[in-house]
Amino acid sequence: MARYFAGLDVGGTTVKSVLVDETGEVAGSMVEVRSHVKEGYEATFAQLESALDQLLVPLGASRSEVRGIGLDVPAPSSHGVIWGKANLAEDWVGTNIRDRFSERIGVPVHMTNDGNAAAVGEYSLRHKGVGGLLFVAPGTGLGGGFVLPGGGLYEGANGLALEVGHISVPFLEEDGELPTCACGWKGCVEAWVSLVALRRRLRVELAKSKWADHELAQSEAPVEEKAFRLREFAEKGDALATEIFQRQGHILGYALADLVRVFDPGLVVIGGGLAETGFRDRYLDWVRGGFQERAWPMYVHSPIDPEKATTRFEWAVGGDSAAALGMAFVARELFG
Ligand SMILES: [Zn+2]
Repeated sequence: MARYFAGLDVGGTTVKSVLVDETGEVAGSMVEVRSHVKEGYEATFAQLESALDQLLVPLGASRSEVRGIGLDVPAPSSHGVIWGKANLAEDWVGTNIRDRFSERIGVPVHMTNDGNAAAVGEYSLRHKGVGGLLFVAPGTGLGGGFVLPGGGLYEGANGLALEVGHISVPFLEEDGELPTCACGWKGCVEAWVSLVALRRRLRVELAKSKWADHELAQSEAPVEEKAFRLREFAEKGDALATEIFQRQGHILGYALADLVRVFDPGLVVIGGGLAETGFRDRYLDWVRGGFQERAWPMYVHSPIDPEKATTRFEWAVGGDSAAALGMAFVARELFG
């Protein structure tokens, strides 16, 4: 009988799932189904089971051959329980999702958040010998994760480590105020670099006379749509889009300097939708610029070999399957 390990990545709209075998090879192809998270966790459990069966059937395998499951959710969680706010149905919060799903399916389950999951996925897709790997993903929020040298996921004592979006940065809005973050506090880096921050910034900029002739200033489209289109404008070198993304990248890099000082990861991987854009090389230069402003020189270049970068920055390579893949590897590590 074969031994498989499943990675199940629960997102706001879909569940992405993948199997690896005991050697760590991906078995079959990724399966994606709707997540139904707003209908409560039982509805999602049914989808997770369906995804698992869709992975196993083409391999001629059954659920009894699954030795462990890694499950990730888009919210901070601790020992299988979501803590704090989550953009899911109410019954997800405070319930031991990990244990309930494990009992239902009869397989051991490990649960963590999506940032941690994607960090492991990115690690697994790179050559071994990566020292540590710090992962950050600007998106609706700013997720993150840290993989130790050797491949272990660092989750902290309560599974709550690497909530990187909520470290504070000393930047002020033009009115002299700190921006309010989705978490309720002020001045978090997430409040500068997320998609929500992008919309806020765009609204402020478009109200200025200097952009009065800009196509987006003259458009009646909702700000969500304008913010989405801003990427196309950045790809064309548009001045407004460049100014906004440059500031976001700079502030992300500035915050990364503090995280690098704590973790000394050697490699920082940036995920999220920006990894797919045509201006990502410029964005990464802006991140490096912010980083170099704040980081001590030794975190930038070795004093012994100035050609050697001490901290490298790379884009994510796993796309939206990195989290599922990462959780399959976590399951193999824990239950193999
Ligand atoms: Zn915050």
